[in-house]
Amino acid sequence: MQFISTRGGMQPQPFSETLLEGLAPDGGLAVPAEMPTVDTETLERWRALTYPQLATEVLGLFATDIPREDLARMTEAAYAPFPGDVVPLRSIGDGLTLVGLSEGPTLAFKDMAMQFLGQVLEYALERKGSVLNILGATSGDTGSAAEHALRGKDRVSVFMLSPQGRMSAFQRAQMFSLDDDNVHNIAIEGVFDDCQNLVKRLAGDLDFKRAQNLGAVNSINLARIIAQIVYYFWAWLRATDAEGPTEVSFTVPSGNFGNICSGFFAKQMGLPIRRLVLAANENNVLDEFFRTGVYRPRNAAQTLATSSPSMDISKASNLERFIFELVGRDPERVVEAWRDLDEQGYFDFAGDQPRFALEYGIVSGTSTHADRLETIRSVYASTEEIIDPHTADGVKVARQYVEEGVPMLVLETAKPHKFAETINEAIGVELDYSKELREMLGAPQHVTEMADDEHALRAFIEANALR
Ligand SMILES: *Cc1c(COP(=O)(O)O)cnc(C)c1O
Repeated sequence: MQFISTRGGMQPQPFSETLLEGLAPDGGLAVPAEMPTVDTETLERWRALTYPQLATEVLGLFATDIPREDLARMTEAAYAPFPGDVVPLRSIGDGLTLVGLSEGPTLAFKDMAMQFLGQVLEYALERKGSVLNILGATSGDTGSAAEHALRGKDRVSVFMLSPQGRMSAFQRAQMFSLDDDNVHNIAIEGVFDDCQNLVKRLAGDLDFKRAQNLGAVNSINLARIIAQIVYYFWAWLRATDAEGPTEVSFTVPSGNFGNICSGFFAKQMGLPIRRLVLAANENNVLDEFFRTGVYRPRNAAQTLATSSPSMDISKASNLERFIFELVGRDPERVVEAWRDLDEQGYFDFAGDQPRFALEYGIVSGTSTHADRLETIRSVYASTEEIIDPHTADGVKVARQYVEEGVPMLVLETAKPHKFAETINEAIGVELDYSKELREMLGAPQHVTEMADDEHALRAFIEANALR
């Protein structure tokens, strides 16, 4: 299995070679040169597998340059920190079932891919005899998932920038309570965009990047997208264990189009998915695209701070992987679309919009703060389940698309404990924290405070990077 770029300018590469970079050298995103397919018998055979075993099978279709027994060892290690079945399903009535993706160390779905990425990065670096220093910016979830997946590794270190004083107390504790030598928390005097600009400037300085072995694990990372395909197969298998093979629909609380892109790949691989429902919050640039065919990213000033903050995006980088399929895998047309975007601020596929649902099953909807509160309330009233605000966006939009006889699986992307204020606002309940969480919240914090200053950051990395 080889991987190519959506913009056509990359030599085909095996899985391991795509791990260490973010964008392909031509500015595009890595995609499988050919999508592997899974037939009905194989699906049935997979019913008996544990989550790590299933992950080995699915990942093995893509990571063909990694021996099977190595892959099996890595998936076992990646999902060992998860309790029970790794991904539990639970019904909340009205034809809806939650798919629990937030049982991992940081209580959000990004652990699902990041835990595997931590294993496979260390493995690939060992084989190459090299080291990697991850430089990233976070407003919360991504940074903590990366740090928890990479802590204590020998060949990878993490430099994670965050906006000083702008993360929740819970998010700060989750990151800053780590005291591993290879984890560097840097709180920048500024907002998230300032952090991201610092990362862009340093990663754009190719000499510095090479000298310091800098890399990224952001949401366009191919291995993350591939690792997320596994739980779509798992959820389909568990949802159809009793009734036998039948089509199901998924609703995905979405930001960067990363999670739902994995579902889109699963559907292309032949998993019987009827609809992929994209749920957006008020920052609904993707809902707009799927309803009209016009994609118009927003600027920082047009991006709202909402109560489902991990979906507060201005643009959705992974959408390029969908566009690549939409234009029949013609890299010229992808380049053209992104040229339009640069020149006029949008691109327009209005003529193709009916195909989004007909060919790919993708439909969409928007949820607001009032919807989140109402949904948290109604789910609590009918089931006593407390769902987090992102999952509530999903449940709200899922309800618009429930069909008789088609199970609707809603991805639970975080635990409510991360967003206790909104839960309290919705249902007046103070959530109980486990002993581990209370310890984490009270632990000493390790963070370096820094001005929004490129030179200070360079010096800090030079002094602390692995080499
Ligand atoms: C990251 C995140 C999302 C959005 O996922 P994308 O892959 O960016 O679409 C949704 N919910 C939570 C809790 C997240 O952390």
